[in-house]
Parts: sequence; structure tokens; C-alpha cells
Amino acid sequence: MFVFDAHIDTLLRLLGKRANLQEAQGHVNLAHLQGGPGAQFFAVFVEPRYYHGLAMHQAVEMIDLFWKMLEDHREALAFAGSAEDIRRARSEGRFACLLAIEGGEALEGKLSSLRMFYRLGVRLLTLTWNFRNELAAGQMEGPEGGGLSRFGREVVEEMNRLGMIVDVSHLNEPGFWDVLSVSRDPVMASHSNAKALCPHPRNLTDEQIRALADKGGVIGVNFCAAFVRADGQATAEHVADHIEYLIRVGGEDCAALGSDFDGIDEVPVGLEDYGRIRTLVGLLEKRGLREAVIEKVMGGNLLRFCRQVLG
Ligand SMILES: [Zn+2]
Repeated sequence: MFVFDAHIDTLLRLLGKRANLQEAQGHVNLAHLQGGPGAQFFAVFVEPRYYHGLAMHQAVEMIDLFWKMLEDHREALAFAGSAEDIRRARSEGRFACLLAIEGGEALEGKLSSLRMFYRLGVRLLTLTWNFRNELAAGQMEGPEGGGLSRFGREVVEEMNRLGMIVDVSHLNEPGFWDVLSVSRDPVMASHSNAKALCPHPRNLTDEQIRALADKGGVIGVNFCAAFVRADGQATAEHVADHIEYLIRVGGEDCAALGSDFDGIDEVPVGLEDYGRIRTLVGLLEKRGLREAVIEKVMGGNLLRFCRQVLG
């Protein structure tokens, strides 16, 4: 089965350890990615210590690392900037790698940087991390952090024009609703869960799930134990609960995967690394989900979304 995950932080891990993907000791390594046909968004995470002056430097360094990774493993991995690229990679037996930036700080306040990042292969921007930046406010700022700034609106409009994915994970609620009204294209929550099952501020309310789904968006279910269960005692079954819940509230076209592997410390029992991601198929089958729906959750929905937004 084709597996497509919307968010992992493996580049950050490789950067910190100066390791390559083959020897990576985290949640994701090359052998895991070769476990079957698939695609993956690799996030360039802008660390807070680089805000205010070095955010773009760090983003560029990690984008270079992404391209080096593709060169080092060209027989196994292929760059994808469109749904057509994903299809081609698959037909060549290679794993499709897409590039994302997590944190609008990387733009350093300029639309020109957004366009340059696009030219470097970036196809998705998570507008904020947890705090306020030039675009909007993250969920740690609370609703009083306010919604999209004027620059944030310009960024969303320019992303629509370029064919880039606007990612609302990490945004506070006013920012979320602003993005939904400004964006012409459907938007993604790349790694967020259902607040009704786990009341973490990073998770989405039923109203948010419905609105995002109604607009044609997708939600990647996050494996971070603290976002899955309030007590942090999460198992793969609890992750399947979030998938089922998203389907119930938003419909079968909105649920997807956004594991956050290599960006989280506590993982659910049964989903300890990327190699186990396909075990979700069996869990969802046991719950009586139809094969066609499981295929959508595991990758089909993200692929359809990319076809629509990336062109
Ligand atoms: Zn994140």
C-alpha cells in the first residue's frame, strides 16, 4: 500500500548528529523508507535559537542537507515537487521526498524569500511554530496573540499563486480562521489531532476539523504521545481512534498521516519507528474500515491534495 506522511523532522536529527540517513539512529532511516511505495514531506524546522537573524541561514543549511541526502541515495530516493513527480518516483521504484519549512521565521519578513525557497524545492510552509512571528501567532500565544498579520495574508496569497501548501498546524485559533478565509486553495494541518479525544492546545476542535475538511483540506494524524492521549500513555490503537474520529467528523477525504517522527520524544506503543507505520493498516482493517478508505488515510488523501494544490 502507498504510504504518504505529511511531517517528519528527520532533517533536524541528521543535522544535529551529522549522520546520514542510512546510519540514522532515530525514528526514521533509509531501510524504513524502502519498506514499500511511499512519499514523505521532510520538514526544515527553524529552531527558536536561530530566530531574529539566523532563521534563513539555518533553513538554507537544512535544504542543502535535504538535497545532499537525495544525492547520497539517488537509487532509493527521488525529489518530488508535484503529484506527477510522486507518480514518476513510484513508477521508478523510488521513494518520493518533498520539502517543507516549519516556521515562517525562515522568510525573514520577505516575500522574495518565499519565492526563492519555492525555487529550491520547498512546497509547503507551516506558517508558525509555537510563537508569534511576522506572519501569525502560534498556539502558545493563545487567542490574544491575534490572527494573520498583513504580511501573513500576503504570504498566503503568494503561496496560492505559486502552488504551495499552506500548513495551519501550530497556529492559534484566530490565525487558523484567518487562513481559512484568505486562502483560495484548501489548506493542510500537517501534524495535528482531534481535541475532542485529547485536549492539547496543538489539536483541532470539531469546528476546525469540519471547516478544514469542507474546504477540501487534509489533517495528518500526529503520533506524539502527548497529542494522542491526555495522560501520554498512547498506543497505536489510540492513534487509530484519532483517524476514525477525523473520518467521523470531517469525512473520509480529510484523514491522513503526519507522524512527526524524529520531532517527538514519546511515541505510542506499537508505533515506535517509521518501519511500523504500515501496521496501522491492520488496525484499521480490524475496525471494519473499507480498503478504499484505508488507502485514502495511508496516502491517497495527501496525494489527491498535492495534485490539487501543487498542480
Ligand atoms: Zn511541529
